[in-house]
Amino acid sequence: MKSFQHVNVFSVEEAVSTLKDCKGSARIIAGGTDILAVLKDQILPDYPEVLVNIKTIPGLEYIREDSSGLKIGPLVKLADLVSSPVVKENLKVLAGAAQTVGTPQIRNVGTVGGNLCQDTRCWYYRYPHSIGGRLLCLRKGSGPCLAATGDNRYHAIFGGRGCFAVCPSDIAVALLALGAEIKTTGARGSRTIPVQDFFNPLGNALEPEEMILEIQVPNPPAEAKQQFLKYTIRKPIDFAIVSVAVLVVMEGEVCSEARIALGAVAPGPLRATEAEGALKGKRLDTTTLEEAAGLAVKEAKPLSMNGYKVEIARALVARALSACL
Ligand SMILES: Cc1cc2nc3c(=O)[nH]c(=O)nc-3n(C[C@H](O)[C@H](O)[C@H](O)COP(=O)(O)OP(=O)(O)OC[C@H]3O[C@@H](n4cnc5c(N)ncnc54)[C@H](O)[C@@H]3O)c2cc1C
Ligand code: SF4
Repeated sequence: MKSFQHVNVFSVEEAVSTLKDCKGSARIIAGGTDILAVLKDQILPDYPEVLVNIKTIPGLEYIREDSSGLKIGPLVKLADLVSSPVVKENLKVLAGAAQTVGTPQIRNVGTVGGNLCQDTRCWYYRYPHSIGGRLLCLRKGSGPCLAATGDNRYHAIFGGRGCFAVCPSDIAVALLALGAEIKTTGARGSRTIPVQDFFNPLGNALEPEEMILEIQVPNPPAEAKQQFLKYTIRKPIDFAIVSVAVLVVMEGEVCSEARIALGAVAPGPLRATEAEGALKGKRLDTTTLEEAAGLAVKEAKPLSMNGYKVEIARALVARALSACL
C-alpha cells in the first residue's frame, strides 16, 4: 500500500478547504470500508496523496424528524438506520435495505455517505494490482470497457453508456423509491441533488471538493406499504444481483400510488415508471402484478451474459408488490 497523509478535519468548512487546497489529490474517508480496500489493492492509476477524515467533524451523525420528513447526517452508520425506531416505523424500505448490506461489522462502521459514494464492484475495475492487475478501462480513463466484450454477467441491463458497471449501493435503491434528495456542500457552495440525478455512468455527480452533507427523505404517503427485496448469489455477505424497493398506497382495493425502484441493473438506481403507471387506479391481483413486473423490465437491454438478470428483476418486482399487499 502506498503512503498517504491522513488529515483529521473538525468542520465541514475545513473539509472543503482541505479538498480544494489538494487540487484533486485528496479523497474523503468516512468509515474507510471501501476506500481503504481500493487503496490496498492499488486499483486506481492515480493515488490520492491525502485522505481527509471527516469522522472528526462533530454533529454529522444524526437522524432528525421534522414536519417534512427525515434528515439523515452523512456519518450515520448503516447499523443505526437498521435500529432507528423512526426509520423502522416510517421508512421500512430504507431500514430493510440497510439490513441487507454486508455484515454487522460493515454496517457498524460503514456510513450512509460512504455507501452512496462507494466505488463500483465491476470485477475488471477491481482486479488487484498484486495478482496481475491493474486493468485499465474506460472508467479508469484509458481504453475500452472490458465488460462490454468480456464476462459481463453482473453488469447493467439498462442504460450503460460506455461503462456497464452497476451501482452497488443498496440504500440508494430505497432512497430513490422514497423520493430522497442529497444535500451537498463544496467549493462552489451548497446544492441539493435528487437521488435519481446523483449517479451517472462513470460514478456520481460530486465534484472533487464536494461532500455529502445530508440526506433528506420526505414523508412517504400515509399508509404506504413498503418492501425491499434483494437477490444475491451467496446468502450472507453479498452484493445484489438485482434489488427492488417498492411503495404501494391502496385506497380500499384500488392502488392510488405505486413506486418501484430497481437496483444493481444500471449505473444508478432506476424508477420503473411505466410499471408504476400501470398499477395506478387498478385492483391489484396476480394479473396486474405480473403485467407491472413485465413492464418494469420491458426496456431492458441485457449484455451477452446477463439476460438472466431480466428474469430475476421481473420476478422480484412481482414478489415485492405482492408482499406489500
Ligand atoms: C465485505 C463487504 C460487503 C459489502 N456488501 C455490501 C452490500 O451488500 N450492499 C451495499 O450497499 N454495500 C456493501 N458494501 C459496501 C459498504 O456498504 C461500503 O463500503 C460502506 O457503506 C462505505 O461506507 P464508509 O463510510 O466505510 O465509506 P468510505 O470507505 O470511507 O468511503 C467510500 C467512498 O465514499 C466517499 N465518501 C464517504 N463519505 C462521503 C461524504 N460524506 N461525502 C462525499 N464522499 C464521501 C469516499 O471518498 C470514498 O470514495 C460491502 C463492503 C464490504 C467490504
Ligand atoms: S464496466 Fe465500467 S468499470 Fe467495468 S470494465 Fe467496463 S468501463 Fe471499466
